[in-house]
Amino acid sequence: MHLLMPLNFRDTAIAFQSHSDASLNRSYLLFRTLASPFLVKVGTFLTLWALAWKLPIKGLIRATVFRQFCGGETVADCKPVAQHHWKLGVASILDYSVEGQTDQAAYEHSVEMTLETLALAAKEDSVPLGVFKVTGIADTDMLEKVSQGIELNSSEAIAWERTQARVDRICHYAHSVGVPVMIDAEETWIQEAIDRLAYQAMQRYNREDVIVFNTIQCYRTERLAALHAAMLAAEQGGYGLGIKFVRGAYMEKERSRAQSKGYPSPIQPSKAATDVEFNACVKAMILALGRPEDSKTLALIIGSHNEDSAELAANLLLEQGWSASEAPIWFAQLFGMSDHISFVMAHHGYRVAKYLPFGPIEKVMPYLFRRAEENTSVKGQTGRELALILEERQRRKRLNN
Ligand SMILES: Cc1cc2nc3c(=O)[nH]c(=O)nc-3n(C[C@H](O)[C@H](O)[C@H](O)COP(=O)(O)OP(=O)(O)OC[C@H]3O[C@@H](n4cnc5c(N)ncnc54)[C@H](O)[C@@H]3O)c2cc1C
Repeated sequence: MHLLMPLNFRDTAIAFQSHSDASLNRSYLLFRTLASPFLVKVGTFLTLWALAWKLPIKGLIRATVFRQFCGGETVADCKPVAQHHWKLGVASILDYSVEGQTDQAAYEHSVEMTLETLALAAKEDSVPLGVFKVTGIADTDMLEKVSQGIELNSSEAIAWERTQARVDRICHYAHSVGVPVMIDAEETWIQEAIDRLAYQAMQRYNREDVIVFNTIQCYRTERLAALHAAMLAAEQGGYGLGIKFVRGAYMEKERSRAQSKGYPSPIQPSKAATDVEFNACVKAMILALGRPEDSKTLALIIGSHNEDSAELAANLLLEQGWSASEAPIWFAQLFGMSDHISFVMAHHGYRVAKYLPFGPIEKVMPYLFRRAEENTSVKGQTGRELALILEERQRRKRLNN
């Protein structure tokens, strides 16, 4: 068994080693602004208004939220950012974060962008994985009908065929260049279709290695059962299983839809229940992975900013005889957030990768608004980010005196 080493997430010198003083100050000012729900509300309104009127506001967005949470507008912009992090042991996952598209040309463009990220990953050690969202390449209403088993009309049937072909094109390419690719999870009412696409692709491309990863959202009920079903299907089907575990990003939307349509909420009753499900799923998957000598075709990704979950997974791996760097597991966070988890875990030798979103500024705004919104709670993530940044600023000041 490898020695259990406590992870000191409060070691701010390591956590913020990728930041110059100037970038640390910028992050501090931004998180302080985001901590105010009033400023976020007004800022969101003014930004939407200015963009709609084509006012010259892009420079301001670029210098603030875009710079904090995105790698750039193109794959080429992201490359130096990825290389900078990689020097400190943290990899990047380029994520074309354009959402809410509704036409075929835009879907095809998203496929092309995803292929471009995979092509970069094939050449660059700093980019070990790819990712895409099915709603970036397919019509949401059609996905909902497929998920609910509603018969498709002829144009929807063509759209579904095209979606399957697009997913296959991405996964086939990922397989041919040997770069694993994750499929993000989305709202429950379209997730059945996404799961179907993901497991079909796993059957095809996870024969020797894990290339395709599906995502399980543990804020949903019955996820441990869903994981056991996926493990059984993979074993019986003779293919490898890749799962990214997250808690889930659409809680309010899920709850209010369930309430307005009068069906039981698919979301866990409390945060504590979500945490229990998350940790139970991670534990079940790591136990299924077994010891290094078992040579299982299983791999997992912990997509989380939760310190306890990261520590739990790390300890379980070591207990099973894995070394930090050899275990088939990635710890993933979002660019611009939770550097204290990313850089401390990388410092201890774990495989760590950050989602590095990119895309034209006006098109990644929905992603940026979500980041701004989730960072408004001073009690939660922002409080912690701010406190750590402040601590590091003071540490650097002490050093310079
Ligand atoms: C690398 C990465 C990839 C991601 N990919 C996806 C994806 O594909 N699909 C997706 O949906 N999300 C995705 N997310 C977002 C993720 O689902 C979470 O929203 C986010 O990471 C916060 O959860 P946490 O584990 O980091 O932290 P925590 O702060 O410990 O947990 C917050 C989360 O707990 C849950 N929660 C909070 N309050 C309650 C409550 N009252 N009852 C029940 N549950 C509650 C919610 O899911 C909330 O987001 C991803 C996140 C990362 C870092």
